[in-house]
Amino acid sequence: MAITVRELADAALAAQLIGQGELAAFHGWERLPLEDFVEGVTGRGRFPPAALYRAVAERRGLPYVDCEAAEPALDEVRRLPQVLLRRGLVLPVREAPVPDVAVAAADPDDRQTLAAVRRALGQDVAVAVAEPRALRGAASRALAAAGHAPAEGAGLAHEDAVTLLDAILKEAYLRRASDVHLEPADDGMTVRVRMDGCLHPLVRGLRPAEGAGLINRVKVLAGLDIAEQRAPQDGGFTHTLPLAGSDPIDIRAATICTRLGERATLRLLGTASRDLTLTTLGMEDDDLARFRAGIRRPFGLLLLCGPTGCGKSTTLYAALREVSRPDIHVMTVEDPIEYKIPGVSQVQVGAGGKVTFAGTIRSLLRHDPDVMMVGEIRDGETADVALKAALTGHLVLSTLHTNSAPASLTRLFDLGCEPFLVAGTLVGAISQRLVRRLCPRCRRTRRATREEARFLGADEAAEVPVAAGCARCLGTGFTGRIGLFEMMWIDGEAARRIAARAPEHDLRAALDLRTLREDGIGKVLRHLTTVEEVMEATLLEE
Ligand SMILES: [Zn+2]
Repeated sequence: MAITVRELADAALAAQLIGQGELAAFHGWERLPLEDFVEGVTGRGRFPPAALYRAVAERRGLPYVDCEAAEPALDEVRRLPQVLLRRGLVLPVREAPVPDVAVAAADPDDRQTLAAVRRALGQDVAVAVAEPRALRGAASRALAAAGHAPAEGAGLAHEDAVTLLDAILKEAYLRRASDVHLEPADDGMTVRVRMDGCLHPLVRGLRPAEGAGLINRVKVLAGLDIAEQRAPQDGGFTHTLPLAGSDPIDIRAATICTRLGERATLRLLGTASRDLTLTTLGMEDDDLARFRAGIRRPFGLLLLCGPTGCGKSTTLYAALREVSRPDIHVMTVEDPIEYKIPGVSQVQVGAGGKVTFAGTIRSLLRHDPDVMMVGEIRDGETADVALKAALTGHLVLSTLHTNSAPASLTRLFDLGCEPFLVAGTLVGAISQRLVRRLCPRCRRTRRATREEARFLGADEAAEVPVAAGCARCLGTGFTGRIGLFEMMWIDGEAARRIAARAPEHDLRAALDLRTLREDGIGKVLRHLTTVEEVMEATLLEE
């Protein structure tokens, strides 16, 4: 039986892509044409069509082929009747391990087509499920690569630039991607999206003219100069998705000329995180309790530390969400404003002619804030203003670019802050890293290797969790990310040592900190993430 709306719905429920209640609220879905159902259900559950077809493959016990990642089997493509590929019905792919050839099909029950394939190839072939639109695009590219004219109107590709960019942004949103990369390649353009910190291919083999059209479309939307193709430019725009109930997305766009031509990077602000609450960040119970107490202090400075992309601002936003109450005035100064938080006055650096964090903070102080979030302390002037604000009855939350919590003190001193002032205002410093969270639906365990057991401090019979891959996690084995934390809370003894400019190791010893790696090991033992993730995230710690 061909894939029906009913089968797609059952598969989506089984893979936990959508809940019973959400599906029930999708009135009249049973009577929709297949494509309209896919459109509606993916928007409601916020997952891409590929997840739906992966779920079908799971239920049927068939392999699934990701057509954007799979290698087409060009010898077999040449031997097939072109009409089958042109219609986007099948595509022979090389699945590892070679030399096995599998046929990805939009409809695994299309006996006539599969019989024609077997006849043409003169052999039996394994059948795999593929997402129809991606299959059309990949089949068209494979035809071109095999020396035939590609089909028109195939897949995400070969649309006009407006439709194509809209489709790419929608797909990026459904995949909870944080960035979209439009990259010139030797033979045209590739589109990749960043999900949970890793890049994944979304569209490959766009023709050069289509690539140029996309870049122009981005430039028009972002208010950039289309004629200027050599100098780097940046700008932004707000994009409304054609999905019921989704908020407009703020997008920052940057272009630059590379060896192969112009590329663009789009940052989708505030769309990647799932639920922005303190409880989902992955703090251990004792850490969470102390963090909550820290952000309820009436004044002082609380710092989040770590390199770019370690999730500092996600944690700060979650904290702001929690402290924001009707009787408290919360203000932020940011560059850029990444998430909009209800009830919080958010100010972009540079607004109103003030071009620095320090200048904007001084202006903010005239607006009687109780809690202030300063996007980043980058210079001595900002550090000075932030410390003084913290000393005069405001709780100031900010971030610093340092590798560990104790290193934040060295950094503040380097920026010219007085040790006694830091000792008197600093509530705590928290170092953070992000690791990918194992998909709870498909994670497996295996015996630890000797090296892993040593890393974990466990005996060699220990089991370690490993990523597998299913429809819910798009085959990656991971869904979202969690933080590793090293929390340094300043008590009387620590304050005395800070005032005396005690070295980092001295402070560390006095406070008995749980390191990022130790925090990560705890998370591996509870099967939240893998040994590899923690090793990689804490590589520079030891
Ligand atoms: Zn999974």
